[in-house]
Amino acid sequence: MKRTKVVEILKSVDYGKEVIVKGWVRTHRDSKSVHFIALNDGSTIKNVQIVADTDKFDAELFKQITTGACLSVTGVLTESPAAGQSSEIQATAIEIYGTCPSDYPMQKKGQSFEYMRQYAHMRLRTNTFGAVMRIRHNMAIAIHKYFHEHGYFYFHTPLITASDCEGAGQMFQVTTKNLYDLKKDENGSIIYDDDFFGKQTSLTVSGQLEGELGATALGQIYTFGPTFRAENSNTPRHLAEFWMIEPEVCFIDMEDLMDLEEDFIKYCVKWALDNCKDDLEFLNKMIDKGLIERLQSVIKEDFVRLPYTKGIEILQEAVKNGKKFEFPCNWGDDLASEHERYLVEEYFKKPVIMTNYPKAIKAFYMKIDEKKPIFNGKEMEETVQGTDVLFPAIGEIIGGSVREESYDKLINEIKSRDIPMKDMWWYLDTRKFGSCPHGGFGLGFERLILFVTGMQNIRDVIPFPRTPKTADF
Ligand code: ATP
Ligand code: MN
Repeated sequence: MKRTKVVEILKSVDYGKEVIVKGWVRTHRDSKSVHFIALNDGSTIKNVQIVADTDKFDAELFKQITTGACLSVTGVLTESPAAGQSSEIQATAIEIYGTCPSDYPMQKKGQSFEYMRQYAHMRLRTNTFGAVMRIRHNMAIAIHKYFHEHGYFYFHTPLITASDCEGAGQMFQVTTKNLYDLKKDENGSIIYDDDFFGKQTSLTVSGQLEGELGATALGQIYTFGPTFRAENSNTPRHLAEFWMIEPEVCFIDMEDLMDLEEDFIKYCVKWALDNCKDDLEFLNKMIDKGLIERLQSVIKEDFVRLPYTKGIEILQEAVKNGKKFEFPCNWGDDLASEHERYLVEEYFKKPVIMTNYPKAIKAFYMKIDEKKPIFNGKEMEETVQGTDVLFPAIGEIIGGSVREESYDKLINEIKSRDIPMKDMWWYLDTRKFGSCPHGGFGLGFERLILFVTGMQNIRDVIPFPRTPKTADF
């Protein structure tokens, strides 16, 4: 007989039927005549209750049924008298696959997330991580579904790259060189001719540049893959290895891009509400009492669309009225997380798409606005068509922009920023041969999962986090 998953058992009303369930013991308690075992197999946050009569089984067997042990249970599906569950299993046979000694690190309830990170290989078996991982899976499905249904092609960009224009100093090098015996030229620079790729290479910080090549052939594409940034920042929102979703679309303007960002993210959040009900209810109860309400409100509200210059006005007004920020917010400054959160959480109380940033604080490929903004009666520096989405509790969740399509303007930017040109020839060809208006964005997958689960630390929404000084498991 085949096993039935717990998720199916709990839906079934086939009382009297013989079933087999297999899974791990969550709890085991006994009264005089009967033992209750809560069994979980990962298919759902919920456990199935196994009822085993004390006199039908060996006392030694019961001793081995401890938290974390793995069992196969044969029994009869019965209607449960207990509140809050419909069916349970009256056990006829119990086989122990794996006992679980008392040094099992996930034995106690209520352990801290810091503690559990030391046992990332075992924490997956807890209720919270089970819920987070099932939601993570569902979000990946929602993302593919959204883009597939909207005519985007899933496009695979390389993880190893030779261009370092985007993340100077933030990249992990890839080499097969013997690090104890590096050949150098007369200036002391490392010679890469004899390295695997014949040049210096790194892990990608973004698939966008190659994504643009795909979009300008297929019309609209998206990438969804691992991304690497050697940023030594140690914040609860940064990983050294994270997953990024990067759609790139031809023939759109800034309004279209913002519509896409908003529609896409609402689709994902709605998918979670529709498909992850049990897990969200669990997280809402255990982690964040405001979670479900926050998710529901995000899909109902129109996101605020706020030009950077207007944002600075609001922030400076707040400072005038006594609001204290750690960092300055003059026109031209990159906004700190405290500024973003003030706008989203205190001022507007809903998600904000911030646009038209000063050129100097944004990447070289963003489309330059035609008009310079007026601030305090004065004309400011040039701005670009960036469209970052700022979320409550998270800050930046999406970084997007319309791309500069003019060959000449792009060359100017590359030159004035001293970006090594020889590495960029293939990218420039998109502007040289049949250039077109286009744009796209990058969504950090784990930031989306943070938002959807209400978890506080990005290390707790990826199975095996990579952060400074941590690459275990
Ligand atoms: P931040 O200012 O938060 O560092 P960023 O401006 O460097 O973000 P982008 O380069 O625009 O981010 O990347 C696009 C998206 O990727 C971000 O909006 C964010 O959701 C995500 N992201 C960026 N860096 C990380 C990281 N180190 N770990 C996890 N997600 C990240
Ligand atoms: Mn960053």
